[in-house]
Amino acid sequence: MTSFREFAETCQAIEKISSTIDTTNRVADLLKKVDIEELPTTTHFIMSKVFPAWSGKQLGIGTSLLYTSLSKASGMPVKSIQTLVRTTGDIGDAALLILKEKRKNQVTFSSFLEEPPEFSIMEVYNRFKIASEASGKGSQEVKIRNLQYLFNSSTPREAKYIARLALEELRIGVGEGVVRDAIAKAFSVPADVVEHAFMVTNDLGIVAATSKEGGLEALERLGIEINRPIKMMLSQISPDIDADIKEMKEAAVEWKFDGARVQVHKDGDSVTLFSRKLENVTDSLPDLVEIVRKHVKAESAILDGEAVAVDEDGKPRAFQEILKRFRRKYNVEEKALDIPIQLNLFDIMYLNGKTLIDLPLIERRKLLESCVESSVEDSKAICVDKQVITGDLEVIEQIYREALEAGHEGLVIKNPNSIYSPGKRGKNWLKKKPLMETLDLVVVGAEWGFGRRANLIGSYTVACYDPKTLRFLQVGKVGTGLTDEQLKELTEMLSGLMEGGEAGGVFAIRPKIVLEIAFEEIQKSPNYNSGFALRFPRFVRIRDDKAPEEADTIQRIGKVYSQQLKRL
Ligand code: AMP
Repeated sequence: MTSFREFAETCQAIEKISSTIDTTNRVADLLKKVDIEELPTTTHFIMSKVFPAWSGKQLGIGTSLLYTSLSKASGMPVKSIQTLVRTTGDIGDAALLILKEKRKNQVTFSSFLEEPPEFSIMEVYNRFKIASEASGKGSQEVKIRNLQYLFNSSTPREAKYIARLALEELRIGVGEGVVRDAIAKAFSVPADVVEHAFMVTNDLGIVAATSKEGGLEALERLGIEINRPIKMMLSQISPDIDADIKEMKEAAVEWKFDGARVQVHKDGDSVTLFSRKLENVTDSLPDLVEIVRKHVKAESAILDGEAVAVDEDGKPRAFQEILKRFRRKYNVEEKALDIPIQLNLFDIMYLNGKTLIDLPLIERRKLLESCVESSVEDSKAICVDKQVITGDLEVIEQIYREALEAGHEGLVIKNPNSIYSPGKRGKNWLKKKPLMETLDLVVVGAEWGFGRRANLIGSYTVACYDPKTLRFLQVGKVGTGLTDEQLKELTEMLSGLMEGGEAGGVFAIRPKIVLEIAFEEIQKSPNYNSGFALRFPRFVRIRDDKAPEEADTIQRIGKVYSQQLKRL
């Protein structure tokens, strides 16, 4: 059994390192050292995750619960803890100081000098698990008791990383890329095989344990499994789409539906649906489950598609409508009648025991068509997205116009010979939509409104993502474009995410919510830590189908900025 103290020491060491190679080596050393049963959890922990993303398990520990637990463990009032978080800017650093203070008092009163006994990484995991599973009456007490226990038993340094882990933000800059390379190094397996194994399992914990136990051979045997969602393949905007199409020679042209992504897992009669964020949304969409059961003729399959809300004539409705269905937990049946859904399928990744992601798109497409059957009465409810293979730019332009006229968002233009690359955004899937530049940005701060809007959060500081440092960098403040209803909805969503109390009506927000923001221009600016500022930003919509790490990156902001200069 490996102690959490050792884990905390590794985190501390990594925090001081700036080179990626040295970070990778430290992570590799840790992974090599831990026992096989601890390996999946340690792998997740080092990436700031308690559960693998695909499991759908939520830790569900908010800042106020964390402050209460720290307060109970240390005797320090919650208000003082909030002040400490504000002055240090970090819950981990605040926890470290709180525990130091507590120990100082203990030493003075009882000349108690020894470090508390060590506890294992799995003890921390088990306490988090109990906290996450607690529900209903008394659940808050259970969560607090388990966190309090951990803080009571911690050294200041352990407390620092427990507090950060409880919010799933270790702030040590270790992401999937580092862990992939660390697994390759620790268990002497090639990085590309680790990457492929990650693509099919979507779980670096499983990949690490398989590498340790069975080496290269076992790793190569790993495949897709039904009911374990794989990451979605993503599309990108091309700066010169015509040139990219010419390069493909022939392209597979599909309508781009403006709905919500779904990954369908069919296993006999059982159907499970996952959202773009890989959350299990089956219970919210019983009508889709029924449609898949009825019309997908396969013993087992994993399919990719877009769910679109439609009106009586099958015309697409606004994007927000479909999200209402995905979020719905109560009165699901009633909402299903209210907002009917159409499922447009465009890919297949698994069929009757076989992983298909390494087949070219045209082959996958044939298999998809062979197993989806739509009868006359249900043809509006399920279909395979129409696809035209062509290299003719005029034909593509014509299909594009048709798509827009039919009320869709545009086109996705795909390389017919490309494999399905889970989680990858690249030139093999290109999106073509009307040019209204928008960015998907994460809310990291907020302010209360004034006058009529005094009880609502009225302004949001938004940030882009930096995949290199895994941090969110501010690019501006948004306070226009919202209806009262949207303000109310966002106020509710954000009030559970406030961090560190407020000063003068302004407070920090844990980066969880993604907004689509339109703007006039990007400028260089010293006012925000990204170095850029949006001119005239306005709210377009909430993107709660997107995870914060999927927000637009600082690199994209830089690119849009330089494209703008070219246009001037
Ligand atoms: P965006 O959300 O703007 O990054 O655009 C990419 C999204 O378009 C995908 O994640 C899908 O949800 C959606 N989409 C709609 N139709 C298609 C299609 N035919 N192929 C791939 N993605 C599609």
